[in-house]
Amino acid sequence: MNEKNKDVRVRFAPSPTGYLHIGSARTAFFNWLYAAKTGGKFILRIEDTDIARHQEETINLILKSLKWLGLNWDEGPEVSGKYGPYRQSLRVEIYKKYAHKLIEDNKAYRCFCSPDLLKEERKDKADKKNKTVEEKSFKYDRKCLKLSQKNIKDNLDSGKPYAIRFLVPENKTINYKDTVYGDITVNTASIEDFIIIRSNGLPTYNYSVAIDDALMKITHIIRGEDHLSNTPKQILIYNAFNFNVPDFTHLPMILGQDGQKLSKRHGSISIEKYIEEGFVREAILNYLALLGWSYDEKTTIFSTSELIKKFELSSINKKPARFDYNKLLWINGYYIRNMDNSHLKQLLEKQMRNYLASKNIKDLENGVKQLDKKIEKIIPLVKERIKTLKESINLISPFFIKISYSDELATYFKNKKINTIDILNRVYKAISEVSDKFYVKDIEKNLRLISERLNLSFRKVAEVIRIAIWNSTISPPLFETIEILGKELTLKRIKEYIRIIS
Ligand code: GLU
Repeated sequence: MNEKNKDVRVRFAPSPTGYLHIGSARTAFFNWLYAAKTGGKFILRIEDTDIARHQEETINLILKSLKWLGLNWDEGPEVSGKYGPYRQSLRVEIYKKYAHKLIEDNKAYRCFCSPDLLKEERKDKADKKNKTVEEKSFKYDRKCLKLSQKNIKDNLDSGKPYAIRFLVPENKTINYKDTVYGDITVNTASIEDFIIIRSNGLPTYNYSVAIDDALMKITHIIRGEDHLSNTPKQILIYNAFNFNVPDFTHLPMILGQDGQKLSKRHGSISIEKYIEEGFVREAILNYLALLGWSYDEKTTIFSTSELIKKFELSSINKKPARFDYNKLLWINGYYIRNMDNSHLKQLLEKQMRNYLASKNIKDLENGVKQLDKKIEKIIPLVKERIKTLKESINLISPFFIKISYSDELATYFKNKKINTIDILNRVYKAISEVSDKFYVKDIEKNLRLISERLNLSFRKVAEVIRIAIWNSTISPPLFETIEILGKELTLKRIKEYIRIIS
């Protein structure tokens, strides 16, 4: 099909089961990219017929993550559109109506068999010893297809529950071409008359998905390869109604480093977790694109607008993708380093405020009001050193939060041959004498003088200062750190450390 001649409509159709999994986020992103590339529409449909009421929250989680990623939808929940509703739980009557049409056309039938009984028969067959796989596999024997009109009427009159089964055409070949997996041929002999509406009135996945994709005029289906084997059944449904069959693109599996399907065992796999861990949107999208797609096998960094230009369904790989946390981390560091400072400031400030709230810290030594101004100054000191926003907490919080010296650092100089108190008194004086403008070069000049006077390497003097003002043997660049801490707070911490070791 020529893409230019038809309006592309793609969809992301999550079943909300708790959070937005990395794999689902990739599916959403590839659909979104394809719509952006072709000027098409990106539709969000929630497949929620299986979920319990109390899981309503999970839908909001998914919407929230999609919005955070910037994957806005043209039609769907909260936006509406011509082909709604966009939640399957609100479309149940539509599925029933179409199923009854199929019954009228002799393409489906009511099945009154008890599900429990069928389950047992299925199990008995599977348990048979010394049989081939084929002999063991259970296919519904079409008992209810043979019911007379009178039987059916009696059953209905007596209120017997029933499911609706699709009548699979016999010995037909289903052919289709998947963009990634190529030509696929399946004979209907291997497909049983599958249930389309359960006895509780709810549709099964293969049926509702096909009805919705057709009614919502979806032109391209882009989804995980776990649905490759469902596609023939869906094509049967399209054919039964003479609906147009969309193009199919199945995305390769995502594996962990150990070659197993990516799961919780491999660490964080939800977008929510990555947000919490301080990953930035641009890095996540960039990395998602690399899971199964590549441009030239060597380029790693792609902005979203570059991806819109370069992305092609035909360059998706069949080979399973490997999820590489360290690569994602590296990409995240790259985006942080290259982010403009005003944007980074917003993100770091938010991160810091969330941290303070989570720890219920209200008293800041350097006033909450100062957070904004100070963080702006702190950024050049930390930008190159962090790979996630969260890592900034350790570097930023000592600028604001009262420090309490660990035992180790309180006794750090005990057996060292330097006169710590003398050095600290000199530092105190040197800092006091810096003019109130508190320029970093004056701070540096005054402090270096101490090491000259004492004929002691500056490294040693710096170590003492660092422990006193930072409660650590490492800190961001010392003079800038002192400048940002401010005169008052620097002096206060020096005094406090003198008190502790005296
Ligand atoms: N609700 C299905 C899932 O989450 C969607 C499958 C599809 O895209 O057809 O796996």
